[in-house]
Amino acid sequence: YNTKELWNNDLKHNMHPFTDFSSFKKEGSLIMAESEGAYVFDTDGRKYLDGIAGLWCVNIGYGNEEMGQAMLDQTRRIPYYSSFGHLTTPPAVELSAKLASLAPKSLSHVFYGTGGSMSNDTAVRMVHFYFNRIGKPNKKQIITRTDGYHGSTYLSMTLTGVEYDHIGFDLAPDLVHRVSAPNVYRRPAGMTVPEYCDFLVNEVEQKILSIGPENVAMFVAEPIAGAGGVLVPPEGYHQRVAAVCKKYGVFILSDEVVTAFGRLGEMFSSEKIFGFTPDIITCAKGLTSGYIPLSANMISDEIYDVISVPQAEGASFTHGFTYSGHPVSCAVGLKNIEIMERIDLCGHVREVGKYFENQLIEKLSDLPLVGDVRGSHFMMCIESVANKETKELLDPNIAIGNRIADKCQAVGLLVRPLAHKNILSPPLTLTVAEVDFIVSTLHKAILDVQDDLVK
Ligand code: PLP
Repeated sequence: YNTKELWNNDLKHNMHPFTDFSSFKKEGSLIMAESEGAYVFDTDGRKYLDGIAGLWCVNIGYGNEEMGQAMLDQTRRIPYYSSFGHLTTPPAVELSAKLASLAPKSLSHVFYGTGGSMSNDTAVRMVHFYFNRIGKPNKKQIITRTDGYHGSTYLSMTLTGVEYDHIGFDLAPDLVHRVSAPNVYRRPAGMTVPEYCDFLVNEVEQKILSIGPENVAMFVAEPIAGAGGVLVPPEGYHQRVAAVCKKYGVFILSDEVVTAFGRLGEMFSSEKIFGFTPDIITCAKGLTSGYIPLSANMISDEIYDVISVPQAEGASFTHGFTYSGHPVSCAVGLKNIEIMERIDLCGHVREVGKYFENQLIEKLSDLPLVGDVRGSHFMMCIESVANKETKELLDPNIAIGNRIADKCQAVGLLVRPLAHKNILSPPLTLTVAEVDFIVSTLHKAILDVQDDLVK
């Protein structure tokens, strides 16, 4: 590869998502050209252990030939066909049946898109259509959480609670309302964790009552908020919020775009790990391990039975995309799940992912710069602070997350910086030796950054 030429064209023509373009103008971007297992290689052949799995998505690891073969085979059979009306293809049907067998029992219907944002938009349209259909056209308001991330289309950005993502945009305040995300580390001083859970659950109930239950359609949350900083809720939180929602006839959308397909050790986490049954689950990323775009909405029978049937006053659910149920994407999704099951990837995560979680907590928590190490299995976050006692943050200009990520990158490890946090979401195939490399590299990087700050 001619890296310099790629850098030139990249700067001139290639607009990266979520990017401050001034930040890499001098050196050029990091252009990934090859991959194998848990590793990626840049255009100059430098090797990195990918502690991010692309973007929380390459769950089975890179370079899996079977995935490529599944793509090729399906492309030869039929590369595209629509799923509109009475049309569809075998992989779309087969994957739907497979997903229905893995999801909570009551969620047996699947609607496809090509990304998480699209699937969350779809979920809102579904419940709006549902409430129109049953004669409750005012029941449209949506409650989401402050640090939730749900995507980048106009609607999913509005669902998103991460305020940074709203800068420069208008929201739809008549539609979306916020409650606090569970941030156990930064809970109000003097509150125990059980008291904090009471506070959060009560806040959801009060929010529903203040909007009026007759106006509230859905509560939207990730089982563990990812991009908001890997916020693990207090014990019982989701079950209790689900009980409140049920009491007022409010649907629950569980955004499992990150947490599904093994990251926490189960194919879907809502029911099996957090003990609640949502009305809709959205998933994407790990569904195909990122090898090809695909998202799915798992929909309850209750919603499906109303929205799927044409009624006298109008059509059935008029929503969909050219690539809904794309046969090549669905064939890759099927192959991905087949591989995951064959190698018992979820079992591996329950073992090695738990080791990863424990090692990060054990080896990094006592470092002076580290305020909190949190997360579950292969979904982890390190939050840096200026003062461990007061939890005071460092000056944002120090860009602590970037400094730690840069030190790691220099010795062949990619971790994701997010302001004063660093996110870890590696491929789920990681070995114990690779876990040890990540933990020791981070340990040294954080100490080196600390030394630099003292200088
Ligand atoms: N929901 C969650 C929880 C996510 O983490 C993301 C992306 O990171 C999305 C939705 C949006 O997915 P996409 O970028 O595929 O549209």
